[in-house]
Amino acid sequence: MFSEHEVISNKVLNGKFNLIKLKSKNRDFKYKVGQFVTIKVKDNIFRCYSIASLPEELPFWDIFVDISPGGPGTTYLKSIKKGQVIKTLNPRGNFLLNKRLDNHIFAATGCGIAPFLPMIKELLKSKDKKIFFLWGLRFKKDIVLEDLLKSYAKANRNFSFKIILSKPEKDWKGETGHINNTISKIAKGFSYSNTGIYLSGSGEFIKESESLLLNEKFPLKRIFVEACY
Ligand SMILES: Cc1cc2nc3c(=O)[nH]c(=O)nc-3n(C[C@H](O)[C@H](O)[C@H](O)COP(=O)(O)OP(=O)(O)OC[C@H]3O[C@@H](n4cnc5c(N)ncnc54)[C@H](O)[C@@H]3O)c2cc1C
Repeated sequence: MFSEHEVISNKVLNGKFNLIKLKSKNRDFKYKVGQFVTIKVKDNIFRCYSIASLPEELPFWDIFVDISPGGPGTTYLKSIKKGQVIKTLNPRGNFLLNKRLDNHIFAATGCGIAPFLPMIKELLKSKDKKIFFLWGLRFKKDIVLEDLLKSYAKANRNFSFKIILSKPEKDWKGETGHINNTISKIAKGFSYSNTGIYLSGSGEFIKESESLLLNEKFPLKRIFVEACY
């Protein structure tokens, strides 16, 4: 029932996020881009984490973890070391890419970026998809992976991204506030009929953003959501 996976590395990206690389010991461990695994933390304690890498990288796969909550899940994941073995249930979830659409707007708060990492990589393979990624964080010190995002933008003119901070330090020169309103503004630049909007992160952010998008007559059937916390 459980799959076992060896910890290859547990990298501290900053004081908030860790990137954990795993190697599956189970040949049947398969997933679709956007799905999550349920990790066994202790007897009777389980936590879900989106898979942050592409299926073709198996048996290697990643999770991207916000270690700040400090409950059983993050305390465990913060402490795991190279060579240790973790147990998971099989991947599941319906937060999947709709690859038939031409335009994809991804909006995440915090660790909500995790399922978008492989989704964006997957879409970048076809040069004709328009991709916009919007990331809401609190502080400038929370920002990670900016170089990766910049390299995507440099290599592919159809990819762009924006990071917005809700509680920026004084020297922040970028945009400030919550990302909710910005999503509908960005959506207006795309043809609604051929655009998917993916929301991932806090439940409150998803509820508010969805309601703003519906007010702007964005079709509900092309809003895809995953609440992580
Ligand atoms: C489908 C799904 C996918 C998920 N994917 C990821 C992922 O890829 N990466 C990831 O880091 N987490 C992800 N989570 C959240 C994860 O499952 C845990 O809830 C989280 O790591 C906290 O677990 P904990 O045991 O440390 O804290 P808990 O004891 O479960 O929670 C402590 C408190 O922190 C709050 N909280 C939990 N997570 C956050 C957060 N990120 N920011 C602010 N407050 C939070 C909880 O609501 C609670 O009030 C996902 C959750 C779901 C349901």
